[in-house]
Amino acid sequence: MSPILTVDDLDVRYGTIPALSGLSLSVERGSLTALLGANGAGKSTTLNTVAGLLEPARGTVTFDGQDITGRAAHRITRRGLVLVPEGRLVVAPLSVLENLQLSSFARGRSRTAALDEVWELFPRLAERKSQIAGLMSGGEQQMLAIARAWMTKPTMILLDEPSMGLSPALVDIVFEAIAQIHAAGATVLLVEQNAAKALPICDHAYLIHRGDIIASGTPAELDENPDLVARHLGLD
Ligand code: ATP
Repeated sequence: MSPILTVDDLDVRYGTIPALSGLSLSVERGSLTALLGANGAGKSTTLNTVAGLLEPARGTVTFDGQDITGRAAHRITRRGLVLVPEGRLVVAPLSVLENLQLSSFARGRSRTAALDEVWELFPRLAERKSQIAGLMSGGEQQMLAIARAWMTKPTMILLDEPSMGLSPALVDIVFEAIAQIHAAGATVLLVEQNAAKALPICDHAYLIHRGDIIASGTPAELDENPDLVARHLGLD
């Protein structure tokens, strides 16, 4: 397998404050890769830089064989790399269907075909087509945010803390949705504080601490060092 995404030696600063310092990681094509870390470790900064929302002071981002460092976010999306940002950004007063209709959809297929695929992949949303998004549970809103990204038929999807603020039952629903888009062929880079949920479903995980990767491996490899994961997810 070859990486679809390579992040090499990334430095990102907010003004003079360093958020990422020499961060490198790679994501294998077709994998579900987790980026785990505590509050403020630099997870969102990493995703936002990959997605073109932040410009790095140093380093490169390569996606599908092309250097996308510093490219505009909409151009990166068009290449098939889509970000679902933190915070379930659905349009609250609109219905599920209307939220999905707002999304662009992949070239070469109709909006109806894109919607049909979403209904098939997320039957829970199909049952709620006309429900007002803002009145659904947090887990369903997160599912809708993921489904909206799926309308563009991305090659790779970046998920920023999809379980944040959800009850355990709703976290399960969201993780099911993530497993579904992965099974449907998308490469996934999942940012999470919830290592207990993310580790069992990922192929590979990175542990980020203070803007740099401090450990990585398969879930089994990281399991051999449970203290490391616990320490850096609990004590930042
Ligand atoms: P969280 O789980 O809280 O989202 P995170 O791991 O995603 O954490 P980032 O949001 O990437 O972390 O933040 C990394 C560092 O950069 C933190 O020290 C944070 O305080 C800082 N930071 C993030 N956004 C800004 C900003 N807009 N201006 C200044 N500093 C920022």
